[in-house]
Amino acid sequence: MTQEDLFKNIIAHAKEYGFVFPSSEIYDGLSAVYDYGPMGVELKNNIKSYWWESMVRQHENIVGLDAAIFMHPKIWEASGHVGAFNDPLIDNKESKKRYRADVLLEDYLAKQEEKIEKEVEKGRKRFGEAFDTPQFLATNPNVLRIKEKINTVGQRMKEALQRNDLEGLRQLILDCEIVCPVSGTRNWTDVRQFNLMFSTQMGSVNDDANQIYLRPETAQGIFVNFLNVQKTGRMKIPFGIAQIGKAFRNEIVARQFIFRMREFEQMEMQFFVRPGEEMKWYNYWKAERLRWHSSMGLGPDRYRFHDHEKLAHYANAACDIEFAFPFGFKELEGIHSRTDFDLSQHQKFSGRKQQYFDPETNESYVPYVVETSIGVDRTFLALFSAAYAEEALEGGESRAVLKLPVVLAPVKAAILPLVKKDGLPEKAREVWQLLTYDMSTQYDEKDSIGKRYRRQDAIGTPYCITIDHQTLEDNTVTLRERDSMRQERIPVSALRNRIREQISFSHALSRLNG
Ligand code: ATP
Repeated sequence: MTQEDLFKNIIAHAKEYGFVFPSSEIYDGLSAVYDYGPMGVELKNNIKSYWWESMVRQHENIVGLDAAIFMHPKIWEASGHVGAFNDPLIDNKESKKRYRADVLLEDYLAKQEEKIEKEVEKGRKRFGEAFDTPQFLATNPNVLRIKEKINTVGQRMKEALQRNDLEGLRQLILDCEIVCPVSGTRNWTDVRQFNLMFSTQMGSVNDDANQIYLRPETAQGIFVNFLNVQKTGRMKIPFGIAQIGKAFRNEIVARQFIFRMREFEQMEMQFFVRPGEEMKWYNYWKAERLRWHSSMGLGPDRYRFHDHEKLAHYANAACDIEFAFPFGFKELEGIHSRTDFDLSQHQKFSGRKQQYFDPETNESYVPYVVETSIGVDRTFLALFSAAYAEEALEGGESRAVLKLPVVLAPVKAAILPLVKKDGLPEKAREVWQLLTYDMSTQYDEKDSIGKRYRRQDAIGTPYCITIDHQTLEDNTVTLRERDSMRQERIPVSALRNRIREQISFSHALSRLNG
């Protein structure tokens, strides 16, 4: 199966089992907006809790906040979003499709990387055992030619982006002979800047004075509350403020399912530090965040760091944690050293001091900030796509299974009476009652037991508990584990403790810190 087909299956599975629906579907949908169904909302809530618990509960110097989405419009002038939150866009005149100029070039560079991989594959086939990959990469003329092209194009792109040279970006697209994937032509318009913020009116008077924006990031709500939180919580630097909330961006290219949405959710943490200490904390948070991702158990090969070529107007260092999505390595989380830019700007625009008095140095200063910013929806997609598997079973059957981290699974245990009679449903209800205070459960008595197992596999339920005639005799049940499909007989009295430890956040968090 190609990665493209796999991705299509993942999207279809997400809909079929109540994880993600296109928004306003009965009206033919709304582009790049999605709704989370009964299973989706559970998984999403679990992701948010796991982040919150590990960020706020596990760090004594990090506290939470829930700022409003609507904020004073001056905030977005101060932050630079009104002037500079732009993407370079380009249209194809034939297909009328719109693209981000930098994304077209990045896709082109990714294709060149793929060409190198193909050359390596060819070499490996030709030379067999004797094949030496590093030597091949360093000497093969085709590889060297492609590498040279990647370097030149990458360098020109970086320079054009840094200088905001829109004509230079267009020329590079033409020089690389990039065609529109839809029309197949190189009939491109000029490159223009496009502001990504949504705006709306507040109050009843429809004039510019009342124009406000839907926040494009949650971070600014944290900055403008910096002193409120610091003073009321008697926080000492270094300390962090964490927030989970919706953000809105009028993305030019909205594709790849919930990877790039116009309404999405972020989990952000701003860490306030002494000026001059920001690089220490930047490196600290890089390592911490990778550790958090690793604790999900999806495997280290799925993550990599990518340093930013073009630093945003506020940053002195920035990187992404990229994840191997079915469509390639893409950004999952950003870690940014934002300097004192935001607080200084708010000091200037509001006329209110945004300073901290440091009792250790007896100095007042505007703190520096290191930010970790991760999308809930992208984390959802990362987990969902890595967990999805189609497996052949004995007897020619197959199953689609979501091997989600147990602690994040929407339903932890399914309670299944073998048949709908002989007192088994009543006994099963008793077991359900026993577990339902501690975990999310499902009771299911419809269809054959095999079909019910398949349904639970498809939503990622780690444990299925089957109640049969023997249960009535000796009070034992069959406990089936999702990934191995192994079954064992255990007493009802042992069930709760057995499952509770595996699904508990404290268990997962202690592993994170252990
Ligand atoms: P990209 O380069 O992919 O547009 P970005 O660098 O603009 O992302 P940030 O501003 O650093 O993203 O936002 C932090 C995080 O918020 C991202 O790592 C991502 O997980 C999430 N995010 C940003 N834009 C979107 C979006 N349109 N849809 C879903 N998640 C998003």
